[in-house]
Amino acid sequence: MYNKTSVLKRGAKSFVARKKLRGGLLLFLSLLEIHYLCGMSAEGKTVAFHTLGCKLNFSETSTIARLFQEKGYLKKDFSQPADVYVINTCSVTENADKECKSIVKNALALNPDAFIAVVGCYAQLKPEQISNIEGVDVVLGATEKFRLLNYINLSSKNEHAVIHNCEISEADFFVDSYSVGDRTRSFLKVQDGCDYSCTFCTIPLARGKSRSDTIENVIANANKIAQSGVKEIVLTGVNIGDFGYGRDIDGEEKKRKEYNFFDLIKELDEVQGIERFRISSIEPNLLKDEIIKFVSASERFVPHFHIPLQSGSNRVLKVMKRRYQKELYTERIKTIKQLMPDCCIGVDVIVGFPGETEAEFRETYDFINGLDVSYLHVFTYSERDNTEAISLADPVPVAERKKRNKMLRILSAKKLRSFYESQRAKELTVIFENENKNGLMYGFTENYVKVKYPYYKELCNVPVNIIIGDFDEDGNMTCVVREHLLA
Ligand code: SF4
Repeated sequence: MYNKTSVLKRGAKSFVARKKLRGGLLLFLSLLEIHYLCGMSAEGKTVAFHTLGCKLNFSETSTIARLFQEKGYLKKDFSQPADVYVINTCSVTENADKECKSIVKNALALNPDAFIAVVGCYAQLKPEQISNIEGVDVVLGATEKFRLLNYINLSSKNEHAVIHNCEISEADFFVDSYSVGDRTRSFLKVQDGCDYSCTFCTIPLARGKSRSDTIENVIANANKIAQSGVKEIVLTGVNIGDFGYGRDIDGEEKKRKEYNFFDLIKELDEVQGIERFRISSIEPNLLKDEIIKFVSASERFVPHFHIPLQSGSNRVLKVMKRRYQKELYTERIKTIKQLMPDCCIGVDVIVGFPGETEAEFRETYDFINGLDVSYLHVFTYSERDNTEAISLADPVPVAERKKRNKMLRILSAKKLRSFYESQRAKELTVIFENENKNGLMYGFTENYVKVKYPYYKELCNVPVNIIIGDFDEDGNMTCVVREHLLA
């Protein structure tokens, strides 16, 4: 059994020093770090991954998985016995600690001797808490997760969980990532971190300051993805509209942008072999008209936006320190719908923020109800350490938060149904996922309508022209594939 009484924590300063060092000394320190690997071959060893949270985490897990595969590891499904289990955590997940515990338990049930690594956002925020979970061997934060291979010990489990995480100010460099092979779509990371200070949010504490890839490198990655046969790229990041600060940001001093998100999408639009680009989520204040106009005219950027709103009350938005008021949000939706009447629009909203009165919640409800949007992602506010919101007065009782969440989820279902209904009989393009689910296959249209069709292998992962049919019992749409494509 494991005795988790002590934790080795590496000093943050030494990490900064190491990062800034160059040449021989850096090499020497790196060699010291990989002592765990010395003499160990990974040939024939297996590794399995579990990802919590957002598309960004999925893209990063894929990159870490590729590093393991390059070392000779065989990738397994998380439900199978493996030598190493990697859990990539999220800071937004409710009950992250509980969830992590249960995932670790499941992994150890499959192989009690497996080496367990917990990495990512929650590992950065609460390393001690994770290190106390029975069976965890290593905990890696924001910068160290990409160096996970250096900490794997294949010969035995660690006696105590080892923590390697840095001060978040040291997460000042960009590591590019993309997912390939897991899905029909690839999540391509273009940006990381966030300089905003929304009072409810822990993401800047878990991922650091805003930084991003160069346009050249994003294009190079998009070309690699195209060569792998993937047809759709979803651009991901924490605050992708803030793209352009470069790969290395130096401490306090903020660099000026030399390019921006609009420049990026113009260049990406020229990449050959990719049928679709989807913008995952973009702050309303950064979704400028030039971007909307460009998407409306592009053959590859699809008519689908996900735009966080968080509240329909200007007072609450202000306390949340969001950088817009509801009037700007309305303008964005109007512009999108004028240029792309069939555009799908998703909305993030938080209910039960401290001090949100019944009337303010009503205002949010009515505001969203009146907007031409397609679905909501509803989050129930929960108190998070080290955020400004945790010390705000007038917390909303938990039962009331749940009630508000339910009301908005019902509104979301209504909105989605009415959006899907508006697409009936339209001719659209779908890319079906390459999975046979009881004789059916599923895919999304360019404007994010989920459709199903009897499984035909030759129709998977290629753009297929369809006519949208009716609702099915599961809430997805049926469709008719146009005759000539089946001939
Ligand atoms: S924009 Fe606000 S909510 Fe989004 S990651 Fe940044 S701080 Fe968090």
